[in-house]
Formats: sequence, structure tokens, C-alpha cells
Amino acid sequence: MINIAIDGYAGSGKSTIAEMLAKKLGYKMLNTGSIYRALACAYRDLGYLEPNNEDVEKFLKNIDVEVKFIFDEQYVFVNGVDYTSQLRLEEISNLSSAISPFKSLREKVLDIQRDFAKKNNCIMEGRDIGTVVLPNAQVKFFTIASLEKRASRRYADMKNVPLEEIYADMKKRDYADEHREFAPLKKADDAIIIDTTDTSAEEASEKCLEIVKLKLEKLQFIC
Ligand code: C5P
Repeated sequence: MINIAIDGYAGSGKSTIAEMLAKKLGYKMLNTGSIYRALACAYRDLGYLEPNNEDVEKFLKNIDVEVKFIFDEQYVFVNGVDYTSQLRLEEISNLSSAISPFKSLREKVLDIQRDFAKKNNCIMEGRDIGTVVLPNAQVKFFTIASLEKRASRRYADMKNVPLEEIYADMKKRDYADEHREFAPLKKADDAIIIDTTDTSAEEASEKCLEIVKLKLEKLQFIC
């Protein structure tokens, strides 16, 4: 299978680029942040408060996670519940960031991700795809953009949360993602940096497509 990894900062355009690239190549796309987000929704709904080792272990014993594609749209069900409408809430952005450092939780998500990559030609986007989840991915990208730009993109999507709050939360989540012990957000040595500060997603995805084609040709895959 051909696996393309896209890692990067929140709001740096990785999901949009991954989606466009998947369409252009006819591959499947897996948004791994949505899995962490759905787990955060379930964690909250089961009555847990601040994540800690003991509660996360207890939580993981009682959950079943399933990723389904319905008319090409990704849905994550936790214990049969579809949390799609809540995934992008600021509260869930912060809670998903707070539960994501726990090793046992990451291992649960790791199995789902690797199983998906084994069965599909895919673009997988997240924080640790090129470094931990799919270290042998044939092509890897790492997306960046200024914090100001990333926060203003999120603000344009949400509107109901003040820009200053989005900016501060994002800065905090960036730090947590980069400094956690297990699978921190980090550019893989062989990843190509895509800076989207002044580039549209369409332009960035075209550039990625060219790179993918060249890389796969070199590796003698036909795309
Ligand atoms: O990508 P997104 O912002 O939706 O991810 C939500 C949270 O899930 C991130 O803040 C990050 O802490 C966590 N995450 C992760 N590893 C991934 C994808 C997301 O730790 N591969």
C-alpha cells in the first residue's frame, strides 16, 4: 500500500491539504485528530474530569472505537455514539490535547491507524504519523504556518470564540504536543516542510501532488 503522512501544527492546513490530495490521487484519507477528539467527547460524557493515568486506564477498558466512512465522510463512533457535531468545539480541542499524551490511549489509536494504512492507499494526517505511526510512509510532509495565521483561520471557522482565546489555546496546545513524552509533534527527518502562511490550500496541495508523483516515480510506483 502507498501511505502518505502529513503532520503539522493545528490550523496549518494539514486536513484541507490531505483531503485535496486524497481526491486528486483517489486515495483514502484518515484524519487522526478526529479520533482523539471523539475519545475526548466520550471521556467527558462518561463523567471523567481532568485526565490522569488511573482514569484514562479505566476509560480505555470500557470503550469501543470504530472509524467508518459513509459516502466518503469519516465518522468516529465511540461505544456506538457519533460525536461529529461536537468534535470542533473549543472545549473538545483542549480536552483532546489533554488526553493525547497518555501512552495507553495513544497505543489504542495507533492500532486503528496502522490497520487503516495496511488496508488502504492513504493520506494520514496528525502529529506523529511520519515519526511513529507510519515511519515507512513513502512520502511525508510537515505543515507549518505562523501562529497568527493559524489562529485567524480557526477564528474564521468558529466565530463564537474570541480570537485572543483561540490564539492562547493554540499556543498552549502546540507546546503540549511538542513537549509530551510519547510521540511528540516533530518533523520526521525525511519529511518535506510545507509552509502555508501565505499559500492557499489549493496551491499547497498541488505542490504536494507534484512531490508525491516524483517520489513515487522514483520508487517505481505508478500513480
Ligand atoms: O488535529 P487536531 O487538532 O484535530 O487534533 C486534536 C488533538 O489531538 C491535538 O491537539 C493533539 O493533541 C492530538 N493529536 C495527537 N496525535 C495525532 C493527532 C492529534 O496527539 N496524530
